[in-house]
Amino acid sequence: MIRYNLVCAKGHEFESWFAGSAAYDRQAKRGLVECPVCGSAKVEKALMTPRLARTRKSTPAASETPAAAAAASEPVVPAAPETPAPVAVISPQERELRTKLRELREHLVKNAENVGQRFPEEARKMHYGEKEHRSIYGTASPDDAKALHEEGIEFAPLPVLPDERN
Ligand SMILES: [Zn+2]
Repeated sequence: MIRYNLVCAKGHEFESWFAGSAAYDRQAKRGLVECPVCGSAKVEKALMTPRLARTRKSTPAASETPAAAAAASEPVVPAAPETPAPVAVISPQERELRTKLRELREHLVKNAENVGQRFPEEARKMHYGEKEHRSIYGTASPDDAKALHEEGIEFAPLPVLPDERN
């Protein structure tokens, strides 16, 4: 099995599978290889371009099954053009960090009491011994955070994941 990138006389590029280069030559000579866009049988091999990290939406391994291989001696209708989608490249380190942040956040949320906007008040009460120490989380304005810090009350920002900011 061999895949050729083909281009028709009008410049439409498409790809097709053939049993081999001889099969391609034979079919092309007899006008059996047609452009799927305009139907032109005037096709030739296009320059091969490297494809990086290309994902196929449908049946990626189909061309490796015997049935597909047999059927593929006839030109295969190429898949519809793929629409672009937003993507991001995340390094393994970033992925790991993100997972750890999520774990930390989940641990905190699971083991601490959500006191919401009462956080500064609750943190103070614990700091000054009015309440028993426990794990809490909530919200604090920048001013509150500054004041708590100046009073020597220890707290840390709850990790925020990028997709939770809004
Ligand atoms: Zn064409």
